[in-house]
Amino acid sequence: MPLSKWSRRHRRTFGDKPPKPEIFLEHHRVPPKPSNYYTDKKGECRFCGSVIKNQDTGEVNNRKSWHSECADEYMLMYHPGEARKRLWQRDRGCCAGCGDSFPRKSRQKDLKWHVDHIKPLWEQKGKTFEEIDLDYWREDNLQTLCFECHASKTKKEATERAKLRKEDK
Ligand SMILES: [Zn+2]
Ligand SMILES: [Zn+2]
Repeated sequence: MPLSKWSRRHRRTFGDKPPKPEIFLEHHRVPPKPSNYYTDKKGECRFCGSVIKNQDTGEVNNRKSWHSECADEYMLMYHPGEARKRLWQRDRGCCAGCGDSFPRKSRQKDLKWHVDHIKPLWEQKGKTFEEIDLDYWREDNLQTLCFECHASKTKKEATERAKLRKEDK
């Protein structure tokens, strides 16, 4: 489970200071957290905020604070290492751009594969959790790209972005 009750992180999260609403900035690779994340109430999911029921009895399960699907989704969205692991399981290092295969790990820059967000994350810039489109972090929006294909995608997007910015003015 994402957070142990006795960890320092836990204390920081549930400490005295109420959390400020966070917005997504580009240098973050993960979306802001839902406000439920900061409530330490058992029986209520810290991700989606709805009650957690015992599947057999239908009663509220007061021992849990995550739905197991929500915990999975949370891990994929908020832990880039987990996204990388799942993408490897799905694509096995096969680049969506050129179709070449790359090793799971490499020290060589041009042999490394990248986790790419098909719809780029900068489109979510400046949004709060309520405004954000979480699909950007879901598996369907992830693809494996090799160093070269990733570089050319980034370059193409930068050009498009510059054009958009010009139109904005
Ligand atoms: Zn949930
Ligand atoms: Zn490629």
